[in-house]
Amino acid sequence: MPAFCDVALAVPLDMAFTYAIPAGMEPVVGGRVLVPFRQQRLSGIVVDLHDRAPQAKNSAVNSTVHSTVNIKKVIEVLDQTPVLDEQLLKLGKWIADYYLAPVGEVFRTMLPLAAEFKRAVAYGITDAGHMALHLAGTSGSPARSKRTPQQQLVEFRVLDYLAERESVREASLRAATKVSKPLLEGMVRKKWIVREDVSAVRDATRTVKVAGLVGVEAARGLLKLNENQKIIIDALAAAGGKVAVESLRGLDVPRSTLGTLVRRGLVELLDEAQDFTVSKLKPRRSPFEFEFSAAQKEALAKIGEAVAARKFGGMLLHGITGSGKTAVYLACMRQVLDQGRSSILLVPEIGLTPAVAADLRQMFGDEVAILHSGLSDAERAEQWHRIRRGEARVVAGTRSAVFAPVSDLALMIVDEEQDSSYKQEETPRYHARDVAVMRAKMAGAVVVLGSATPSLESYYNAKKNKYALVELRDRVENRPLPEVEIVDMRQEFQETGQEQVISRKLAAEIRERLDKKEQVMVLLNRRGYSPVVLCRACGKTLQCKNCAVSMTHHKREQKMECHYCGSVERIPNKCAQCGSEYVYFAGTGSEKLEELLHGMFPQARIGRLDRDTVRGRDDFEHALNALNEGALDMLVGTQMIAKGHDIHGVTLVGVIGADMALGLPDFRAAERTFQLLTQVAGRAGRGQSPGKVILQTYFQEHYAVQFAARHDFAGFYEKELQFRAWMHYPPYGAIANVLIRSEKLDEALSWSGELGRWFEKTRHEGIRVLGPAAAPITRLKRDYRYHFILKSASREKMNALLRGMLAEAAARKIPRTQVIVDVDPVWLM
Ligand code: ADP
Ligand code: ZN
Ligand code: ZN
Repeated sequence: MPAFCDVALAVPLDMAFTYAIPAGMEPVVGGRVLVPFRQQRLSGIVVDLHDRAPQAKNSAVNSTVHSTVNIKKVIEVLDQTPVLDEQLLKLGKWIADYYLAPVGEVFRTMLPLAAEFKRAVAYGITDAGHMALHLAGTSGSPARSKRTPQQQLVEFRVLDYLAERESVREASLRAATKVSKPLLEGMVRKKWIVREDVSAVRDATRTVKVAGLVGVEAARGLLKLNENQKIIIDALAAAGGKVAVESLRGLDVPRSTLGTLVRRGLVELLDEAQDFTVSKLKPRRSPFEFEFSAAQKEALAKIGEAVAARKFGGMLLHGITGSGKTAVYLACMRQVLDQGRSSILLVPEIGLTPAVAADLRQMFGDEVAILHSGLSDAERAEQWHRIRRGEARVVAGTRSAVFAPVSDLALMIVDEEQDSSYKQEETPRYHARDVAVMRAKMAGAVVVLGSATPSLESYYNAKKNKYALVELRDRVENRPLPEVEIVDMRQEFQETGQEQVISRKLAAEIRERLDKKEQVMVLLNRRGYSPVVLCRACGKTLQCKNCAVSMTHHKREQKMECHYCGSVERIPNKCAQCGSEYVYFAGTGSEKLEELLHGMFPQARIGRLDRDTVRGRDDFEHALNALNEGALDMLVGTQMIAKGHDIHGVTLVGVIGADMALGLPDFRAAERTFQLLTQVAGRAGRGQSPGKVILQTYFQEHYAVQFAARHDFAGFYEKELQFRAWMHYPPYGAIANVLIRSEKLDEALSWSGELGRWFEKTRHEGIRVLGPAAAPITRLKRDYRYHFILKSASREKMNALLRGMLAEAAARKIPRTQVIVDVDPVWLM
């Protein structure tokens, strides 16, 4: 066994740490070990085993004593076999390199195994602590201090208690010694005791209590049962012998009855794994019940050939909304599974609609693992183990499913590849689509990027033949794309003399659909009741106390809420600035839109889908179900209603404020608007009757609105690419956003100033550095924010400069957590 191992720890430092391997321990590369780090014990991934004695600089050196370098030792080996195989390790290192993220934090993101470790805290005594205790024993009083005798007494009680034990859980220690938390922390600072994260492997499966019948006949025939007992026995028998205890509560018998039956040996109580409940939606037609269109067959064949070649291949599947992309994905995954190989399907955060989950379940049964955001840590870990054991070779999930530990990966599919939820907005700031491409490259697999509205980057790559372009130009069964009509709201204002939310045209169209018993969706991509509260006297708006943004009025919940940090305030009845009572609620959000529509169409059954009405997966499914089954006539909502759903009764889609995002200071504003409009328009006319879309806008001449209305993808891309080329924005070159933040304004200012001067005097040919400038959102979650934007045709040069900048920031003692490097940023706000 080599003498040392390098361990990647999930701490915000750009390096691995070297530890000595005690005799008898056998850590493996890609496996986890428990190591001491500062005052804690942390688990990390072994990235290297070697015999090179480390330099004092990058090792976990015990700085207190000795002239020779004293390297800390591994405490425990947690895995006998790697949890990250060679390919995933390599992928993680690539991510760390490409996104300038600490590699330990990357690995933590890749492994959903946190649930296996209880994050309990324990304390242990140090040598210094033993010494203090010893001195107290001999001299009767320890060194002079500001502490009261009472505090000292407690401290020595703690030391005494710990001296006899290896390590004690915080709860037990506090119960035994009545020590306060601050006092414990003080002892840690004095290095008398150490704080440790203790880990204990926990059962990852969530279970439920189930009542099971022991011998039906015996219970029924031979024994005398009272009425209540009979009710329970009958219920169990009717359900096939087993029922969750929870649901027996609905039977209206005393709780003690079940206990009696258990005592009599007629019923037993069991712990059963709680199954992931599958969608209650009716499964749609299976992809094998209909004849594939010629275009679908061709796409399937091309992907099949690429997979058979067993080498890397990239493909862009550009299929208009309703062209049957999902069916193609499923059929490809079926083929791959039949060959005994693995596939991963990535879907956006809200794209894993219950319908798609139901399709996957129906098609792949137990061989599919579905990773969605509603899973608990324990459930996620369980799925991870199932995949790793090879029990599930088909994986579908959101962003982090790109790290699913499948073996023999043949196919990686990224649905709605342009979706911004693929980008993680915290360290490591990776983009799952780009990681998917890299993983496929490393695995010699095929990656298919699917979309009705590809990102400019992917479209450009396809044009440059980096990806093969496969197109589905028509909707299935020759259904037409919806007709789109633009309503100019300036003209509406002139003609009606009033600011309108719902134009006369849209109102008339809605009425017509309702009369015909057809369904309607109305999009307003802003939640809440009113987005702005304004004082008529002094003109001030109500701003969040943590962020430089307006608070949004939520009427039903009677509160003001910041949509950036979530802070909540009471609804003001007078201006906080000048005391005037003339406060005015301006603008419209989805909550108000729903109310307005209720007023206009009192008989219509209207549902709303946004982050206020959707608290969990069930709410989402419930609303879509209701629409699907005809229990709703209209669905109002934010972008949540725009994507992926396949509801055949919807024939009209209205968009309020089609241009809303165009004013944002972000170079992707036009692209996002085009995509959202195309997506939401795609919800109309997916069944037998053709669809219609009404786009209300104040900015009808904008090309994003115009091209979306004409379903002209190529036209939009050409125009947008031209603009990107002029501005040196992606896909023409790489960009990075460097954000400097601090709760203290002067720190944010001086740090960004220091880095600005460093950028200025550092020569960097071929890289443009813009800034420092105040970020568009100048204050967020209490932090003041300044930023730089770097643009370069050479990613290598750009990353080299960023590495230099990080080193400079470290040298200037700017904390790593306050300098955020975002490579390929999705938001520049
Ligand atoms: P997309 O993802 O491209 O928007 P979907 O895959 O959701 O489209 O397909 C739209 C609808 O058409 C679904 O209800 C699907 O079951 C159905 N469908 C797909 N392919 C065919 C086909 N060849 N013939 C008939 N219906 C199809
Ligand atoms: Zn005022
Ligand atoms: Zn806020």
